[in-house]
Amino acid sequence: MPEWEPVIGLEIHVQLKTRTKMFCRCENTFGGEPNTRTCPVCLAHPGALPVPNERAIEWTIKLGLALGCTIAERAVFHRKNYFYPDNPKGYQISQYDEPLCIDGAMLVPGPDGDAEVGIIRAHLEEDAAKTIHVGGATGRIVGAAHSNVDFNRGGTPLVEIVTQPDIRSAEEAKRFLQLLRQTIVELGISDAEMEKGTLRADANVSVRERGETGFRTRTELKNMNSFNHIARGIDAEIRRQIEVWESGGEVVQQTLDYEVKSDTVTARRRKEEADDYRYFPEPDLVPLEPSRGLVERLREELPELPGERIRSLGNEIGFDSALELVATGNEATARGLVEHGLDWPKAASVAMNELAGREPLRENFRALVAIIQQRDRITREAYHASFASSVTTAINSDEVLAQTVVADTAELEPLVDRILEASPAQVASYRGGKQGVLGFFVGQVMKETQGKADPKIVNELLRQKLDA
Ligand SMILES: [Zn+2]
Repeated sequence: MPEWEPVIGLEIHVQLKTRTKMFCRCENTFGGEPNTRTCPVCLAHPGALPVPNERAIEWTIKLGLALGCTIAERAVFHRKNYFYPDNPKGYQISQYDEPLCIDGAMLVPGPDGDAEVGIIRAHLEEDAAKTIHVGGATGRIVGAAHSNVDFNRGGTPLVEIVTQPDIRSAEEAKRFLQLLRQTIVELGISDAEMEKGTLRADANVSVRERGETGFRTRTELKNMNSFNHIARGIDAEIRRQIEVWESGGEVVQQTLDYEVKSDTVTARRRKEEADDYRYFPEPDLVPLEPSRGLVERLREELPELPGERIRSLGNEIGFDSALELVATGNEATARGLVEHGLDWPKAASVAMNELAGREPLRENFRALVAIIQQRDRITREAYHASFASSVTTAINSDEVLAQTVVADTAELEPLVDRILEASPAQVASYRGGKQGVLGFFVGQVMKETQGKADPKIVNELLRQKLDA
């Protein structure tokens, strides 16, 4: 059997959160009453002329720089012609052979080291209106009774990013997208939320035998609305293609939808994938020629990017945890805990679980670390209360640490005996095989001691006596 190697490239669309749309002054916001944010320009009334959004251009350049791209000295808007109700002009203003950003790369940390994913281009375009298909089972046009169009989204600024086919597994594709998303969010140019559609990704997938240098026929995978679905969709398509090749068939170039429920891919109707767009230069817009001064100013404005931080954090706690820590905004808290003596895995876990988004006052880090390090000695209540109050008030670790658990067997034993004596039915039930009743007894002891008994000792004592 040959060993198969997946070859994956991604096409990502990011909706920029500029105040206004790409070529008109309509407000650019998500949701709201349909068709309330439109004007002659984005509804394509005759004679209306587009004016490019300066901020959208600057943000696209910033993103390009963050992806290591070269910023073109001259970029041209083209008309991409297609006929569909989401597109009142009959064409979308996009970029074709002279995009704004070209030839970048992003390093994606992973368990086997960094993978470099080349960026072919990042260009600026306008989004289509949103079509809503009513009456079908799947929300798609097939089987729908009628369709509505919401032009609020029409003409909003969209960046399209196209990667080289450098990605070698579904997992790596997911990592790339997670890191890209975090980069976009930290640049402050988009919310990049897949659920809202402000980040969308399609995958080009093919497979080849390991050692092969050329590419085989690829398919395009669409309709995936979370990072996990993307990974699962790519895996399903890889499995399908391997099966086709191994059974002596040939993979056909086509556009596919991933169906989550059945974990399979299905072909789109041909009509939906007509691919001859007849691009030609947009006569109403002059070419973009960003000055080198502007590009340098934007480069200087770039914040520290998450890739480097996630890479070094990944060495301490693994890439997935590192990314989660950064993406959930708990990184600063974990760093504060580490600075005061906690190890990274513990600090990351406390920041993500116990504190979960709550940022303690700086002055409390030392006390918190002391409390975390002596967690076994103090009551659960005192432990958790210290985190809750650390956000708003100065905490005194001595006071918290004084609330010690009762771990003295001699002190707890008479109480345990009394509780067992008072509950003969539960004792019989436990001895009859219902191990779960143990929780009932532990609860009783905790209640009697106002939560101060050491649960570990209580469990040991109870088992000793019940199993005797
Ligand atoms: Zn408008």
